[in-house]
Formats: sequence, structure tokens, C-alpha cells
Amino acid sequence: MSHSSPETLALEARQELEGLLKRTTPLTPKERIAITAQEMPTQDPAVRRRNVQEVALGYTPEQARLESMRCLQCRNAPCVQGCPVRIDIPGFLKAAADGDFQGACSIIKKNSLLPAVCGRVCPQETQCQEHCTVGKALKSVDKAVSIGRVERFVADLERESGSAVAPTIKPATGKKVAVIGTGPASITVAADVRREGHQVVMFEAFHKPGGVLVYGIPEFRLPKAIVQKEIDALTGMGVELKTNFVIGRTRKLKALIEEDGFDAVFIGTGAGLPKFMNIEGENLVGVFSANEYLTRANLMKAYDFERADTPISRPGRVAVLGGGNVAMDAARTAVRLGAEEVHIIYRRTEVEMPARIEELAHAKEEGVIFHLLENAKRLIGDKDGCVTALECLRYELGEPDASGRRRPVEVKGSEFIREIDAVIVAIGNDSNPLIPRTTDGLQTTKWGNIIVDETGKTSIDRVYAGGDIVLGAATVILAMGEGRRAAASINERLK
Ligand code: FAD
Ligand code: SF4
Ligand code: SF4
Repeated sequence: MSHSSPETLALEARQELEGLLKRTTPLTPKERIAITAQEMPTQDPAVRRRNVQEVALGYTPEQARLESMRCLQCRNAPCVQGCPVRIDIPGFLKAAADGDFQGACSIIKKNSLLPAVCGRVCPQETQCQEHCTVGKALKSVDKAVSIGRVERFVADLERESGSAVAPTIKPATGKKVAVIGTGPASITVAADVRREGHQVVMFEAFHKPGGVLVYGIPEFRLPKAIVQKEIDALTGMGVELKTNFVIGRTRKLKALIEEDGFDAVFIGTGAGLPKFMNIEGENLVGVFSANEYLTRANLMKAYDFERADTPISRPGRVAVLGGGNVAMDAARTAVRLGAEEVHIIYRRTEVEMPARIEELAHAKEEGVIFHLLENAKRLIGDKDGCVTALECLRYELGEPDASGRRRPVEVKGSEFIREIDAVIVAIGNDSNPLIPRTTDGLQTTKWGNIIVDETGKTSIDRVYAGGDIVLGAATVILAMGEGRRAAASINERLK
């Protein structure tokens, strides 16, 4: 986490880079490892608690070059194995180290359509950076080459300078593809299929495209303007977008093929069905699912109190149940919406928390209070049906469960009351059930995920699926990888 001011970080990087550029001999691996690992400049926690602007401010050009110079250009590139879409990481870091930022971005874009998004939200410390030789040499994944931050820098620079080259579209084939949903899986499919010259129509249930990138992940982690730019690029390529269009309600999936003349359909409807704890009091007023809370705050702009007419509770004490990224997003959003106290309640310890280390640290810096080895047993309301308190239980850690994490075991008789004015349940999401329920013959797992073969095809001819609707709640980069695979199969099929 950044403890120096952005100005200090920029100055120190400039001086260190100038010194290195004066060298006439190549840097040895030892010298590369000795280069200062570049911190990400961030907004001051006291200031950012009260605004929704992005927390991480991004590298300066000098920081991006220095960070890239730390890469040892390992011949076996273990980092690439950790990237689900196998970006040529040493290749783009070499270009960035030489100051060729446009070249670096072009290398990334061969494998990833959304580098400005992935550079921000990929869980890099458990993907590419986990395997980095520099991190291993310095015995800390925090000291690995910050691949994602350089990726973000070069993608932002390309977008802001307007130097992105529009993709070439092959001559029209006369074939039509329907893409359901507008999240990262669907964006990837739409782009890859459109490039082959097929007509593409995207159908989105919400009034705005972008999927979780827009309705779930908050503005302070991923500015919506970045996602909108990607959507604009798609429509610029000739992709047609139909919003407020719910497949399964507005139109049935099979009608797209049998009546509307689509030659193939991709389902990328994600995992937007919130899970609840199934405890007493979950239907009290003031209890939200994280999805609803974040959708109101992000998509419906409830944070803009003066102008937006979306109601959202802005009470004193908010409890968030859960310990993943969604819980952190909900808690940090509640801070920005003006809650006096925000409490995260999690039944294991920090070691088992699935949230990214960075998000956890940012939440703490912003004043979120953590209650570990604790969970809600029931929610208590007043005579008007509004939540007023949680009855909580204390836990201790037992033996590891199937996931390898130590199982939380409740401490008998440890019940106590925690007074609270609102509760956000953030314990995970299941796949959206509407399309499987309204489409005969579409096979799913017992958890409701659509089953696909190794080409991304479902049990119905001409119908493909990918992203969270297949994987269960996963990540942006995995959703994109799935989209790429399905798009290749659709293109092959329509040849
Ligand atoms: P989605 O992004 O879920 O998009 C699906 C779209 O389909 C939605 O727009 C939905 O409205 C639409 N849709 C659904 N049903 C229909 C229908 N019947 N008709 C028409 N449209 C429909 N991942 C990370 O990698 N890093 C993170 O930091 C991260 N943070 C997250 C924070 C939150 C709060 C959440 C909820 C998720 C987060 N994720 C994160 C997970 C990541 O966002 C998802 O894995 C990813 O967005 C899945 O992409 P997708 O394209 O499969 O679906
Ligand atoms: Fe790492 Fe994600 Fe970029 Fe791949 S896409 S290199 S995993 S940050
Ligand atoms: Fe560079 Fe680290 Fe990848 Fe080696 S593992 S090529 S040092 S980023």
C-alpha cells in the first residue's frame, strides 16, 4: 500500500530511472532485482472516504518503465502460466521498459480485449504475479513485478491518447449471432465474432451494458467511463445493442434461432442471483443483498445524493456479512454513502478471507471495522419490521474443509447482540436461473451452471455459453477466456 505521497513516488522514480538510463552496459539480474518496486500512488484515505473517484491513481511513465525494468525476462516465463489468457508478459514488459508503451499495449491486446479493466481488477497476486521469479527471489509476492499495474498504465495511455487502432472487420457474411448479456464474456464474444464479418446483436436485461463491470464493481475501483469506452468500441464496429431486453421474458432463447433467424447464440448471463444465509429476519427492512446494494449505488447512481432519485439507506451502523471482494466493495461503498460505522462480520480469520489483500488493506485504511470469528445467527427487527440488531455467535477454527481452509466451528452459548441499522448480505452469488428455466433441453449442473463441452457449446445445437453462467461466480479474466473460446467455436461453425 502507498505510504508516500504521489508526488514523492513520482520524483523518486524519475531520479532512479535517470540514473539507470545513464548506464552504458546492460543491467545484470541482480541489479534488476535491486530496482525499487514501484508503489501504486493512491488517494489519501481520509479524502477518498468521502468521494467515489478511483482510489488507485496509476503509475507515472517513469514508474511504469522502472517497474518493467525489474523483469528478468525469464526464458520459461512462469508468470505467463499464471495468466488465464496467456499474455506475453515478458514481451510487453520489455517494450514498456524501453519506453515503447504503444508496442506494449499491442502485445497485450493480442490476448486480452480489456487490459485497462484487467490491469485494475485481476487478482494478480494469485495469477500472473504469484509465479514471478522476482517475487520468489525477494520472498514476497508483494515484491513480484507489478504486471497488472504496468498493463493498466499502457492501456490507459492508449485510451487517453486516442491512439487505439480500430479492428479490421471482414466483409459481411450474412450470418447473424445473438449475444445474451454484456459482461466481459459477452463483450469478448461480440468483438471476436464481429471481426469475422458476422452481424452481432447483444441483448442486455439492464438499461446499461457492461455486466458486473458496471453494476457490481464500484466506480472507485473501476471507473465506468473505461467500460463505456469498450462498449463504444463495439458499437463502432457495428455491433447492435438492445438494452432492457430480458431473454427468457421479452423473448425466449429458442425463438432467436427458430423465428428471428440467428445462426448462433452465446449465453453470457453471469452469476447475478444473490445467496442468502437463510436465517430468521433476512426479510426485514434495511437488509440488502450485496448485489442489490451495489446495483443501487453504482448503476442507479445512489451515491449522487443531490441528483439521483434512487433510494438507498444511509444509516449510522452498517453490518456486512461475508469476507470476499463483494463484501469489501459493499463495505467501502457504505463508507462513501455516509455510514457512521461499517462492520465486516466474518466467521473465519483474515488468513482464510477470499478478498484480495489490497482490497482488505484499503477497507481498513478507510475505517471499516473487522469482526473475525463471528457470524450472525438471526436478525432482529422493531415493531415496524426494520432491522435493529444482529444476534451473533463466536467461532473458532477447526480442521480444514474440502477447500483446504480451516472450518469455522461455533462456540456454544457464545450468543451476543450487536446493534445495527442496516445489514448487507455478501456471501456469494449463484448463476442466473431464468434462461435455463425457460429453455427446454438446456442442461445445467445441480448448482444451475450451464454445461458446455470443450468448445463452449451447450446441449442445444448452435447455442454456446461462457463466463460466470458456466463457471459459477469467477473472475473477469476467466470470463473473457471463456468468451474467446466460444467465439472461436462459433466462427468455426459459421465458416
Ligand atoms: P456478468 O458480468 O455477470 O454479466 C452478465 C450480464 O448478463 C449482466 O449485465 C446481466 O444483466 C445480463 N443478463 C443476465 N440475464 C439476462 C437475460 N436473461 N437476458 C439479458 N441479459 C441478461 N472479478 C475480478 O476478476 N476481479 C474483481 O475485482 C471482481 N470484483 C467483483 C465485485 C463484485 C461486486 C462482483 C459481483 C463480482 C466481482 N468479480 C470480480 C467477478 C466478475 O465481475 C465476474 O466474474 C464477471 O463479471 C463475469 O462476467 P460474465 O460476462 O460472465 O457476466
Ligand atoms: Fe495478469 Fe490478469 Fe494481465 Fe493476465 S490479464 S497478465 S492475469 S493482470
Ligand atoms: Fe518477468 Fe517475473 Fe515473468 Fe520472470 S516471472 S518474465 S521476472 S514477470
